[in-house]
Amino acid sequence: MKKHIAIAIDGPSGAGKSTLARMAAKKLGFIYVDTGALYRTVGLYALRQGADLKDAGAIGALLPDIRVEMRYDSAGTQRMLLNGEDVSELIRTPEVSMAASNVSALPPVRAFLLDTQRRMAEQHDVIMDGRDIGTVVLPEAQVKIFLTASAKERAIRRWRELREKGIDTDLEAVLRDIEQRDRNDSSRDIAPLRPADDAVMCDTTELDLDASLELIVDIVKQRIADGR
Ligand code: C5P
Repeated sequence: MKKHIAIAIDGPSGAGKSTLARMAAKKLGFIYVDTGALYRTVGLYALRQGADLKDAGAIGALLPDIRVEMRYDSAGTQRMLLNGEDVSELIRTPEVSMAASNVSALPPVRAFLLDTQRRMAEQHDVIMDGRDIGTVVLPEAQVKIFLTASAKERAIRRWRELREKGIDTDLEAVLRDIEQRDRNDSSRDIAPLRPADDAVMCDTTELDLDASLELIVDIVKQRIADGR
């Protein structure tokens, strides 16, 4: 069986991982897998049940009732299904972001979603973005990139994005939210956010989208060529 190529892109919230991974996947002809969407879908279910989002026992007990599926539409866009319902848009609210950050710290949730992620990489050439792709999910990935930018810059980008969607928020509140999620993601005991030892560090604070994309595509091509 042909071995597929896997590219892992990890980093904190708002570093531009999903936008850049999606664009790079298109350029390289890979499938883009947004793993944050899996945690968001579990977070949405837990919110709807009114469960305590930090209680591993309570959330673990919900998992057998959750069917999380990833689909790709004709434009190649990832859609998320929760027990058959398309929740792709519903999982993008700030409330679900925080719920995802909370439930993702629970060991039963991480174990529950691990197979889904690994299966995608067994079946396709993938660019997968998340927090622990290079360290836990796909430690054998041929290319690992740790994408970051200053918290201030990430907050400004997120705030602009929300404003474009007609959501009027306070920049300070967006920054606080980003810093809180950074703390949650980096300080948790299980699969904390940290660069893999063999990850290439990319700081995009001073780079625009085109320059960041060029940098990532160059790193991927170089690494794949080196591996031959
Ligand atoms: O990437 P995104 O912001 O959509 O992820 C939502 C939340 O899911 C993150 O704040 C993080 O806590 C969690 N997550 C994770 N591991 C991943 C992807 C996301 O813990 N691989």
